[in-house]
Amino acid sequence: MVINSRWTVDIPRSSLQKWIFGSATEPLADTKSFIDPENPDSNYITLSDYRLLSKRVALGLQKAGLKTGERVLIFSGNNIFFPSIFLGVLMAGGIFTGANPTMVTRELAYQLRDSGASYMFVAEAALKTGLEAAKEAGLPRDRVFILGGNTPVAPELIASTNPSPGVQGKAEGARHWTELLVGNRSQAEKWSWQEPADPENTLCCLNYSSGTTGVPKGVMITHYSYVANSVGVVYINNLDPQFQEKQKRARMVCFLPLYHAYGQTYFVATMPYLRTPVYIMQGFDFVKLLTYIQKFRITTLACVPPIVIAFAKHPAAKKFDLSSIESIGSGAAPLGLEVAREVEKMLPNADYIRQGWGMTEVTCTAMAWDPNSTEGSSGGVGEMNPNCKAKLMSLDGKTEITKAGERGELWVSGPTLMRGYWNKPEQTADTIVVDGDGTRWLKTGDISYVEKYEPGGIFHIVDRSKELIKVKGNQVAPAELEALLLENPDVNDAAVVGVTINGEELPRAYIVRNPKSKASEQDVAKWMEGKVTRYKRLKGGVVFVAEIPKNPSGKILRKILRERAAKEVGD
Ligand code: ATP
Ligand code: MG
Repeated sequence: MVINSRWTVDIPRSSLQKWIFGSATEPLADTKSFIDPENPDSNYITLSDYRLLSKRVALGLQKAGLKTGERVLIFSGNNIFFPSIFLGVLMAGGIFTGANPTMVTRELAYQLRDSGASYMFVAEAALKTGLEAAKEAGLPRDRVFILGGNTPVAPELIASTNPSPGVQGKAEGARHWTELLVGNRSQAEKWSWQEPADPENTLCCLNYSSGTTGVPKGVMITHYSYVANSVGVVYINNLDPQFQEKQKRARMVCFLPLYHAYGQTYFVATMPYLRTPVYIMQGFDFVKLLTYIQKFRITTLACVPPIVIAFAKHPAAKKFDLSSIESIGSGAAPLGLEVAREVEKMLPNADYIRQGWGMTEVTCTAMAWDPNSTEGSSGGVGEMNPNCKAKLMSLDGKTEITKAGERGELWVSGPTLMRGYWNKPEQTADTIVVDGDGTRWLKTGDISYVEKYEPGGIFHIVDRSKELIKVKGNQVAPAELEALLLENPDVNDAAVVGVTINGEELPRAYIVRNPKSKASEQDVAKWMEGKVTRYKRLKGGVVFVAEIPKNPSGKILRKILRERAAKEVGD
């Protein structure tokens, strides 16, 4: 049975940049869009400068030879210039693709080759990897642009027509990105990008999935889907009768990576559209985040579970004034209810932590909470976003589930759905199922249930089907055990994976122990015994570790732990 959204909204058929700015030349407010939190008074980009700088990047790229439909890759952590490069690529008619800045040469070379990128922007700090990968993928050096280095502060850069050549020379043929801007300022002021004739079929980005379950896949997202995603998020925000009032004081910190769908859709598109100032952190540091929240009176946090866990478990969190926070969301991975409760108690002026659900394949978000709902505490991930729908299917994909509370694989559909995986027709065909009536359904691989089979029904995510551990025919969701383990005061962080011992799959936990705790590994296993049925016990063992491996988009890298477990005790 299909669960529709309660809402239908009009989706403008325009480019993403037009949706954000209105047009290429109309006057824009001088509100700050992006601010460097380390130099907030001197290094920032206003909304109109965001458009101008993006246009200058677009003109520079066109002059450098970029053709419509060519891909441009960014390999960099966050900085306040990143969004202008993203939109500059789109304005030039190109397709953006971002790479995880922790990649090694081989991985980056794969994404360069897979996306067929013709140009690359590389952070100065990652230049060695970037140049090695460019060589491996056959990308000429004069198509590599260096970010960082001697870039002047943003207002100076934007005012100048002759930006400093930065670190050129050091990089043997690669150029500093500000060279793209040389001379084109007054031209850019008058210039308008060409609107795509068919935004529904014009790609704006190849956003790579996180690579949690395998090699990251290039997800083809059109301008129309990107706009649809953002319009849906804005619509839901506006359901709060106080939203416009709250917007007057709204400020956010961006610590989510901008190469990934979650941070990117929020901070490159939706927040500038809403005119919310965003402090962009370069690299993540939890104590710095706390400092910024206090100093800049941050009102809204877009989080991933590891950061929510840090709020609950990091001793510094209690030492800062968090009273400015009015709302906090979490997505990208399962969040335990108890951890959420603990953090809510620390935030005197925020209501529930509202989870959302999404994936790169649906541009970003497909489920969120109505801000007027008082049930955000249920642990659910919200209801279907505007114009989106879902159904739950048996794991063999043959039977529709119709009973509230019964688990199945989540299939979703809507205007935010990807066109497919780039150059992967077989994987696309395995993932997208077309109904008799032409509806395209995305098989998400997530196990879910819904509270009620009606529009507005609240969904819960159990875990990914690939992560379920099968203990004597019973399915055990690692996310459930991890959430429980985090309730233990001896435990600061936890990850559970399956390991096969004597032919049987069993749950094994990797634990970061609270530094003040004296508990042993056996104590933790014993503690769990009283909390779960027999087959969910940690019979595969408990191991203390210094850190749980996670990727920048907030997911536990279970494949690393599964390999480790197999080596330690597996068959
Ligand atoms: P890959 O597909 O390359 O293995 P990935 O699926 O982790 O990587 P993303 O598109 O970044 O890449 O993540 C989407 C996945 O994140 C979803 O399929 C789901 O498993 C998980 N997810 C997102 N939001 C939530 C949430 N609120 N609760 C639980 N899981 C979530
Ligand atoms: Mg995925």
